[in-house]
Amino acid sequence: DAMTRSNDTFNDMSGVIAADRAHIWHHLAQHKPFETVDPRIIVEGKGLRVWDAKGKEHIDAVSGGVWTVNVGYGRESIAKAIYDQVLKMNFFGGAAGSVPGALFAEKLIAKMPGLSRVYYANSGSEANEKAFKMIRQISARHHGGKKYKILYRNRDYHGSTLATMSAGGQNERNAQYGPFAPGFVEVPHCMEYRKQWDVENYGLRAADAIEEVILREGPDTVGGLCLEPMTAGGGVITPPEGYWDRVQEICQKYNILLHIDEVVCGMGRTGTWMGYQNYGIKPDFVSLAKGVASGYAAISCMVTTEAVFDMFKDDPNDPLSYFRDISTFGGCTAGPAAALENMRILEDEDLLGNTLRMEKRLMGNLSNLMDKHRVIGDVRGKGLFCGAELVADRGTKEPADEKKVAAVVADCAAQGVLIGMTNRSLTGLNNTLTFAPPLIATGDDIDAITHAVDIALTKVFS
Ligand code: PMP
Repeated sequence: DAMTRSNDTFNDMSGVIAADRAHIWHHLAQHKPFETVDPRIIVEGKGLRVWDAKGKEHIDAVSGGVWTVNVGYGRESIAKAIYDQVLKMNFFGGAAGSVPGALFAEKLIAKMPGLSRVYYANSGSEANEKAFKMIRQISARHHGGKKYKILYRNRDYHGSTLATMSAGGQNERNAQYGPFAPGFVEVPHCMEYRKQWDVENYGLRAADAIEEVILREGPDTVGGLCLEPMTAGGGVITPPEGYWDRVQEICQKYNILLHIDEVVCGMGRTGTWMGYQNYGIKPDFVSLAKGVASGYAAISCMVTTEAVFDMFKDDPNDPLSYFRDISTFGGCTAGPAAALENMRILEDEDLLGNTLRMEKRLMGNLSNLMDKHRVIGDVRGKGLFCGAELVADRGTKEPADEKKVAAVVADCAAQGVLIGMTNRSLTGLNNTLTFAPPLIATGDDIDAITHAVDIALTKVFS
């Protein structure tokens, strides 16, 4: 039965738990509580369910915690594709090509009209850094080193490395890690629920705010603009009407390369292959990671246009002309082998279609919860990436107490449903419950998820 766990793995996990408590430094976690409470260790997954070390079953509405496992757990065909490939040829440095690398690139490019080149790396951060370096090199070779600045947006996230943090719009994540790399400049977020301008056409106004920054910095100093198509971890921020058309216009007007970070939204998450395809955007760079192989292997891609690519072969006799970059494990074949099979599954099971159908169900259920619970101030999302922002007061939009938001997440987990939350920023923006189940979710799964939230909200806020 594809939806049940095997029976033999949970007999004695005490050694594993002890080893974890003694030696593991978990990501994004305060460890003091682990002195008295066991850490969560996930042992097995099937479909969209996971089991922890105590054998407790959960519906996973966060796709592996960080919106990654798009095709769900326990896919034998992906495991087999990886097995067959690594047995034949597991690795060779990326100056050489590989069979699955070439075949996956061809399939991926077919989904991304206007783009044509794939650069392989391992993580979302790393893929984004590749674009930053390409923009810097284009500035160095083609703009006399002047057009080096890269704009990023408040509330957007592009990774955990120092350069991607330099382009990081979430102050709560950046505090304490400076000084950052120079040449990265922030533009305002576009979240209409928390308006920064009292105007009729908010999308245009928010986009014009980017132009204001460009004019302030000097258009001939700005080489790139890096944006998430829909801000994910920064609060599930869907762009207002008209925003993207204007952003695109501004990039063209000032000859600024547009870098879309699809690490979360890419590979079907929003019901289209790429999040940017919802908005008619024509990017110069697209970074992909999480859903590319659904976490079965580590792989990320920086995808770009032939026009960008051509700028790196202008003078074959100059040792500085080509892209002087390597990523050792970008030469692993497990990633593209898994990605090929992952893409076949997305297509053959029509998971994009399912995502659009389930978006209606999830957004509908969340709207019903909003009618019932005054603590929900706003419901937003696209595809199977949706959020419910919790506020102490609908009039003032004062964010709900973060401890209570965390209590809702914990209560859902106790009920066997894993949901997420975005953190409150240091400047007091949003506390949003997040829902991003694997794209195989059924209507019953969605109902079970929102039912748990209903119970938890009642418990925590009444
Ligand atoms: N960009 C976005 C939009 C992300 O959400 C993330 C990770 N959450 C990253 C980049 C960084 O990816 P990674 O953790 O693989 O480096």
